[in-house]
Amino acid sequence: MNALVETTLNEGWSWVRDRLREEFGEATFNNWLGPLDIESLEDGAVVLSAPTRFLRDWVAPRYGDRIRALWRRRDGSVQTIEILVKAGASRPARQPVTPSEVSPGTTQGPVANSASQVDAALDPRCTFENFVVGKPNEFAHAAARRVADMDDVQFNPLFLYGGVGLGKTHLMHAIAWRLRERRPDRRVMYLSAEKFMYRFVQALRFKNTMGFKELFRSVDVLMIDDVQFMDGKEATQEEFFHTFNALVDQNRQIIVSGDRSPSQMDGIEERMRSRLGWGLVAEVHATSYELRLGILQVKADLLGATAVMPKVLEFLAHKITSNVRELEGALNRVIAHSTLVGRPITLESAHEVLHDLLRANVRRVTIEEIQKRVADYYNIKVSEMSSARRAQMVARPRQVAMYLAKQLTSRSLPEIGRKFGNRDHTTVMHAVKKIEQLSQADNGFAEDVELLRRMLEA
Ligand code: ADP
Ligand code: MG
Repeated sequence: MNALVETTLNEGWSWVRDRLREEFGEATFNNWLGPLDIESLEDGAVVLSAPTRFLRDWVAPRYGDRIRALWRRRDGSVQTIEILVKAGASRPARQPVTPSEVSPGTTQGPVANSASQVDAALDPRCTFENFVVGKPNEFAHAAARRVADMDDVQFNPLFLYGGVGLGKTHLMHAIAWRLRERRPDRRVMYLSAEKFMYRFVQALRFKNTMGFKELFRSVDVLMIDDVQFMDGKEATQEEFFHTFNALVDQNRQIIVSGDRSPSQMDGIEERMRSRLGWGLVAEVHATSYELRLGILQVKADLLGATAVMPKVLEFLAHKITSNVRELEGALNRVIAHSTLVGRPITLESAHEVLHDLLRANVRRVTIEEIQKRVADYYNIKVSEMSSARRAQMVARPRQVAMYLAKQLTSRSLPEIGRKFGNRDHTTVMHAVKKIEQLSQADNGFAEDVELLRRMLEA
């Protein structure tokens, strides 16, 4: 390559890298895209290299098209992107970008790694003592306590699931703290599924999968948080599956959390899903008013803010319904504000400090409510919302409900489709368009839809 060509090439690549970093964020960029190097550009073919086969096979199907598109924005003559594995990697191969996933290689490497590298810092506030128990979380709490207090494995795995900010991570940390205190001889490992994957990829990159396997298979208790992160990440799932089985065989305890129940994890391979459901599955339900109030009282005490008036706590418990994290945030803000301005907390000041949060916490409508309301309104059975019947008298209300689900919830089109008898997302898209058209053309119809919307938002 002559110097000029090389400079142009490097500039092009550096420009593309900057765009990728902006688009995908620092973390993704550093993990996946940063390790790529530019090799050459000839006759419209850009050749990049990856340090490992795994990385290449991960990046190519996910980012290959994007890299190509970006490059073409800068240089229209670019036709293809190839990513090859750098010489010296386990199985060098020059392959075009293909949408395939691979299972991890079995490269051997020196056994190193200590548990401390993986053992994420446990939050000292997340103990059982600080966990407020109420109806929505009592079962999950009891299951977590059982695991932490028993020496023999009674159910494997313990699977905790529920929406964000409801206390899953808190419970896992609490188990770890309790075990440390009670059984310091046992090796307890807690990490997020994301960390697990990251460690796994690192092991592949540095040819240390043996070390990785040994590390994870030597623990007494393994906790993997937010397993939904493994959605669609087949190689990581595969590795987790093997780790999981190895630990179960040795009668070691596994605890997993997720945002859905195992059976609803449709991005997780069937055999893994069924494994996850083998032990005890416990849901952490959305909070109730009483639980929120209890949590606020405990937190206010912990913060030494005993002067917060009960009326203010009740107000918060009533208004901030989304999750415990936001509830805590609201309390912190109210207290911080009063400390700063040197005035006691009143209902009015709480209102003022939290006005943005309060707006975001207007009641969230569920798809089920929408289906029920719309079915009532048009006098059809709720079951027609997911039936296959196409007669207009049921199909139209169904479309109205899909439209409202799109408007009033944050669910994606595929999620909405699933709730309507497993329909395709294109069906939902079509429904939304149809209702928009009809509303334009027919005032009476538009009013019906508007009325339903107001009823649901009330
Ligand atoms: P998740 O992992 O389910 O998203 P977290 O465990 O991170 O939720 O909880 C969010 C915040 O709310 C944490 O600060 C946690 O300590 C707190 N929290 C959740 N549930 C409770 C509870 N029942 N009692 C006390 N604090 C709670
Ligand atoms: Mg969590």
